[in-house]
Amino acid sequence: METVLSGIRPTGNLHLGNYFGAVKSFVKMQDEFNCFFFIADWHSLTTHPHPENIRRSTRTILAEYLACGIDPEKAAIYVQSDVKQVLELYLYFNMNAYLGELERVTSFKEKVRKQPDNINAGLLTYPTLMAADILIHRADKVPVGKDQEQNMEMARLFARRFNRIYEVDYFKEPESFHFNHIAVKVPGLDGSGKMGKSEGNAIYLVDDEATIRKKVMHAVTDSGPTEPNQQKPEPIQNLFTLMALVSEPDTYNFFNDKYNACEIRYGDMKKQLAADINSFCAPIREKILAIQDDEDYLARVARLGAEKASASAEKTLREVRQIIGFRV
Ligand code: AMP
Repeated sequence: METVLSGIRPTGNLHLGNYFGAVKSFVKMQDEFNCFFFIADWHSLTTHPHPENIRRSTRTILAEYLACGIDPEKAAIYVQSDVKQVLELYLYFNMNAYLGELERVTSFKEKVRKQPDNINAGLLTYPTLMAADILIHRADKVPVGKDQEQNMEMARLFARRFNRIYEVDYFKEPESFHFNHIAVKVPGLDGSGKMGKSEGNAIYLVDDEATIRKKVMHAVTDSGPTEPNQQKPEPIQNLFTLMALVSEPDTYNFFNDKYNACEIRYGDMKKQLAADINSFCAPIREKILAIQDDEDYLARVARLGAEKASASAEKTLREVRQIIGFRV
C-alpha cells in the first residue's frame, strides 16, 4: 500500500478552505493509503509563537481533524515534535544541503522580505526539515498546493542526492498529489482571492450559526446583473462557488437561474448560503466542542499516532544510520 503524508502548521482553527481543499480528501485517503497526518509544531517555531499558542493550536487541530472524520485507528495522526527521529534525518540532510540552493527557494525569499528582523536558520532550512518529514516515512505521495511545489522539488533533490552520495537506491522521490486530480480553491467572502486565516475572510468549522450568518451577510456583492446570462464577476462567482460546496444542487440551480434571469436578490441567496453552511458545519462543530476539552482522549490519540509514526521513523533511521556508516 502506498504511503501518503501531510502536515499542517498549528496556527489556528480550520476553515472551510482547509476542509474542502485538504481535510475532506484526507478522510477518503485514509481508506486507500497508509496515511500519516502530522501537526507541524517544529515548523511553526520559525515565527517564534508563544508557548500557550502552540499548545492550544495543536490541541485545536487535533480535535478538528478528529471531528472531520480522520480516524486514529486508520491513519497515524501525530504531533511532529513527538517523533524525534525526524530531527536526526534533518541533520543528515542539512549536511548535504547548500546555502546557495536554500537561499534561492521562493518561500525563503518571501520570508526575508516579510520578516527582515527574523531571518533565522530554521527558515533557511525549512525545505530540509520538510524533506525529513516526508522521507522519514519514505512517503510516496504528498498532497500539496502549488505554493509547496518548490519544497517538494527540494525533497526530491535531497532524496536523489542522498542516494547518489551513498551509492544506494534507498529513498524514493515523493510525488506531489491531488486526490481526484482536482485542486479545489475555496474563495473568501471579501470578493477576491482564496479563503485563508491571514486574509481575515474565512468561515471556521467551529463558527456558530450567528457568526456564520454575520460573515455571509457581510460578503461583498455588486448591484446585480443587468443582462440575462451575463458572466458573474468574481465576488458573485465566489458566493456561487461556496454554494456549490455546501448546498443541494437544486438550491444552487434555483439561484443560478435567478441570476441568469436578472431576478436575483443577493440577500435571499446569502440567507440560504448561511443556512446551508451552518447545516454543513453544525455536526462537525458539535464534535469539535465535544472533543476539544477532552484532554485525556486527545492525549491518547496523540500517543497512538506518535507510536505508529515513531515505529515507521525508527525503521528508516536504522537503515539510514547504517548507510551513512554509523554503528547500529
Ligand atoms: P493553510 O491553512 O494555508 O496552512 O493550509 C492548510 C491546507 O489547507 C493546505 O493543504 C492548503 O492547500 C489547504 N487550503 C487552505 N486554504 C485553502 C483554500 N482557500 N482553498 C483550498 N484549499 C485551501
